[in-house]
Amino acid sequence: MLIDSHAHLDMEEFDAGRDQVIDRALSADVRQIITVGIDIRSSIRAAALTKSYSSVFASVGIHPHNADNADKNDLKQIPFMATQEKVVAIGETGLDFYRNLSSRQNQIELFKQQIDIAISLDLPVVIHDREAHEEVLNILFSFNRNGFKGVIHCFSGDYNLAKTFIDMGFYISIPGTVTFKNANEMQDVAVRVPLNRMLLETDAPFLAPVPYRGKRNEPCLVIHTAQKVAELRGISFEEVARQTSKNTCQLFNLPFLK
Ligand SMILES: [Zn+2]
Ligand SMILES: [Zn+2]
Repeated sequence: MLIDSHAHLDMEEFDAGRDQVIDRALSADVRQIITVGIDIRSSIRAAALTKSYSSVFASVGIHPHNADNADKNDLKQIPFMATQEKVVAIGETGLDFYRNLSSRQNQIELFKQQIDIAISLDLPVVIHDREAHEEVLNILFSFNRNGFKGVIHCFSGDYNLAKTFIDMGFYISIPGTVTFKNANEMQDVAVRVPLNRMLLETDAPFLAPVPYRGKRNEPCLVIHTAQKVAELRGISFEEVARQTSKNTCQLFNLPFLK
């Protein structure tokens, strides 16, 4: 079995045919999916989807892109939303200094506040880090003594950065871009990161792997990412599937399916 540790099933790209998307995932043995909120409305939808689909779990939080639009009331709702059944994480939160859709100061503040919530609820954090490696590291270091858990989703640095995060106790999640022809750095990461610290994700509807590059992504396609990782490491697909599923279950406390 495989798990897609990060998708956005609530997005409108899936409105026409969400049932089929879940069915195709199950047919491909993608038995669990974590759908990730990017603001309060999307987090509410994510939590609702877990009630419609037994294979779906949710993370609730506010994406750094939306930091400027979030107010105190939004933040106050997160702890309540996070205590619902099948809500397994806080996020996605973090810093995006590539697109800079919100002010850096607001992004940083909201990131810290969501880490506080995660620590108080003993939940893992789904961390988005785009072109903000140093700042993300500094913030994680400042909280690290509290021993919280999390994943650097859609990891986009080099192996040394991955190693630093792993040494701090975080997991590294590999997206479908590892299948791209020019993804040398990410392929190096996918080969060298210890398999017991690695998760797989689609980030659907974005970032479809080869041979679907440029098309709408969906959870069943995580199979191509797993295949690529297996090929790069020279190990079996089954081993990649088994170990990454186990890691995802451990981090998010998902029921472990045999
Ligand atoms: Zn993200
Ligand atoms: Zn995402």
